[in-house]
Amino acid sequence: MCRHIAVLGPTAPLGESLVEPPYSLLRQSWAPRHMRHGTVNADGFGVGWYAPGDPLPARYRRAGPIWGDESFADLARVVRTRALLAAVRDATLAGADAEAAAAPFAAGRWLFSHNGALAGWPGSAAPLAALLPPGALLRLAARCDSAFVWALVEQRLLRGETLGRALAGAVTTLAQAAPGSRLNLLLTNGAAVAATAWGDSLWYLAGTGRGRTVVASEPYDDDSRWAEVPDRTLLRADRTGVTLSPLAPQSSRSPRLPLKEPVL
Ligand code: GLN
Repeated sequence: MCRHIAVLGPTAPLGESLVEPPYSLLRQSWAPRHMRHGTVNADGFGVGWYAPGDPLPARYRRAGPIWGDESFADLARVVRTRALLAAVRDATLAGADAEAAAAPFAAGRWLFSHNGALAGWPGSAAPLAALLPPGALLRLAARCDSAFVWALVEQRLLRGETLGRALAGAVTTLAQAAPGSRLNLLLTNGAAVAATAWGDSLWYLAGTGRGRTVVASEPYDDDSRWAEVPDRTLLRADRTGVTLSPLAPQSSRSPRLPLKEPVL
């Protein structure tokens, strides 16, 4: 499993969230405290951020562990932003796609990460493939389950769905098509964040009086205001706060098709 984090706040260096805290994403890459599957996150990493005056985010991704990248250490110190999304990867399956398989995945203003695994992947791909138009399948960013999940979310965003609705719809669809999948998703457009807790840990830190909202797989420090998100929950956040809503429970009798979605 991976660890991921999104931060909305006042302008600050990347490293203030990703490197400096005692249990930062950097440290979570070799010593996560709440990860329910896997051990270390050494199969790549990525950070996406929004620069002043440009609505499209920049990304820096690499195929190796975050702790061995001196260029990242430099960037984290000097690049300042009001919004970021970053992840460290523990690959579900070995693959040759290197940094292309490292989150954040991106399109337009959106940055996305998946902490989890599609059950049965890639054997489960046959029923899943029918969920995407052929063009989207051919344009997958990488040959890993998370790139497929992103393509499904992206389709929904391109249809005009809100961040929260796109994630909730994708989780519902994927949980029906590949039961047993773990689907902690994280999405931002630079102004708002949506996330799902579906099989792994998810926490948030808000209301600290700094106009800062953090959504992360696990707390990066011992601040007592970190709150854990219950499993099977959709989180929606902006700089002013966080809203949680339950995702539809999966009934064992629910039909695989047509796919039901919660109205969110
Ligand atoms: N399924 C993801 C991948 O292979 C890994 C996500 C995770 O949580 N480890 O990239």
